[in-house]
Amino acid sequence: MDTRLTEFRPLQISRYVPELDLLNNPLLKSNEKEFLAEFYEFLENELDEDLRKLEELNYKIEEPIEEKKKVIVKQIMKKLSDYGYYSTIMQEETEYEIGRIMRNALIAYALCGGRWSEYSERYIAGNWSIEMGRLAGGTLYCNPVNYKANDYQREKFLAPVARDGKIGASAMTEFNAGSDIFNMELRIMEEEEDVIIKGKKVFITNGLLADNIIVYGRLNNGSIGAVLVDTENQQLKNFRSARTYTYGMRDAFVSRLIFDRVKLPKENLIEGNGIDIMFHQLTEERLIISAEALGDAMKKLLYSHTWAFNRTQFDKRLYKHQVIRFPISERIRAMNLLISALIEYARELDKRPELGSSKLMAANAMGLKIETTELAFESAIHCFRTMGGRGFIRQYSNQIGLLDPYCMIHGGGSNYVLEDSESRRFFKTKPSKRKMKDVIPRMDLFTD
Ligand SMILES: Cc1cc2nc3c(=O)[nH]c(=O)nc-3n(C[C@H](O)[C@H](O)[C@H](O)COP(=O)(O)OP(=O)(O)OC[C@H]3O[C@@H](n4cnc5c(N)ncnc54)[C@H](O)[C@@H]3O)c2cc1C
Repeated sequence: MDTRLTEFRPLQISRYVPELDLLNNPLLKSNEKEFLAEFYEFLENELDEDLRKLEELNYKIEEPIEEKKKVIVKQIMKKLSDYGYYSTIMQEETEYEIGRIMRNALIAYALCGGRWSEYSERYIAGNWSIEMGRLAGGTLYCNPVNYKANDYQREKFLAPVARDGKIGASAMTEFNAGSDIFNMELRIMEEEEDVIIKGKKVFITNGLLADNIIVYGRLNNGSIGAVLVDTENQQLKNFRSARTYTYGMRDAFVSRLIFDRVKLPKENLIEGNGIDIMFHQLTEERLIISAEALGDAMKKLLYSHTWAFNRTQFDKRLYKHQVIRFPISERIRAMNLLISALIEYARELDKRPELGSSKLMAANAMGLKIETTELAFESAIHCFRTMGGRGFIRQYSNQIGLLDPYCMIHGGGSNYVLEDSESRRFFKTKPSKRKMKDVIPRMDLFTD
């Protein structure tokens, strides 16, 4: 059954807003714009039809849609990979000479936000669920594996995902260890020739689709380690995956995973500390989530803008009321400021990869992740308010992806946790001896 009321017409974005077009941003260089324009073309020609099919399925109730969705989502990831847009590891880009992280950020922004197409004179919608699947497989799986895997593991576990577009997932979160990741309980038991995994994971993006999963857990000696799992097309013995039904991100296949003494060869174990493996790519992950949130905020602002233009109440278009208009312009302003920071951070990180291990850079990227995801969240709330009753029904909330940004104030680290650790750092009272040594010579600079 289709849930749409025929009396309600689809919301059509029909106006171009230059301030909401990244291709129009004066800070982007010409090669970056060319890369982005080519991605938008790909979005329109290759993905638009698939994304529309997913949207259509989400209007249906009482019909089995999950299997159909699985096929479409896998197909989208394969297309992204074939064009070099899935993982930026092992997929070099030579034509535009843009760094890996900048490329990743531009794809994330564009895939979430979509764009007004001059050619077909309509808005080509983005989809944050699909980008989240791309992030989980292309970055959260590929980057840690690329960091520590040996040659055998690179060939067997990295290349199929990073190069050939198989689906990857990263499994950290557990029922009792969410924000408190150090508390994880899943056991990775090392035996003579094998490792046995026992435990559960939850909220794992792509879990139900994944060919390969990097699973973090506790080793025999109590420290955190990481092991690579080939799900054998989800048929692996003693492994089960189930969908977690979410109200937003409905195309992302967020899942619960059960490992009930799954036996794997010992060579699947990644050498090194699991926490280091998990967190070494944190700065990049935070920047990519920021790019996603900015793309999504742009999409919500476009929809608010459109509705404010088209809806008349009390004999006036909605935009005539300041209470409707001001929040839109305020958020467009904030969005463009944050885009400037994103562009600078991504370019600089590409130029100086050593910044990836800078604590201050990680802190700045965390700040950007918090501000951008909160902006996307607020833009969705404002859009919801502006839409009136329509915001409440699937007919519109599905089209706009209204509830997607609710998820990402938790994805990639909950904002409260991040803010708490950020503010604690500012008020540290007992610097270590080493840090005092660093501070004193710098103070000398100010005393002549
Ligand atoms: C859409 C989506 C996709 C996800 N994908 C993945 C994935 O692919 N892989 C994966 O491993 N995980 C994934 N996650 C899980 C995500 O990382 C966790 O939801 C997140 O770490 C929070 O854990 P929790 O849900 O258990 O919340 P809790 O840890 O229970 O937190 C509850 C609330 O308390 C706050 N809180 C907790 N501790 C503190 C503190 N010290 N200071 C202040 N506030 C605090 C939190 O900010 C939050 O608001 C995903 C989550 C979502 C929503």
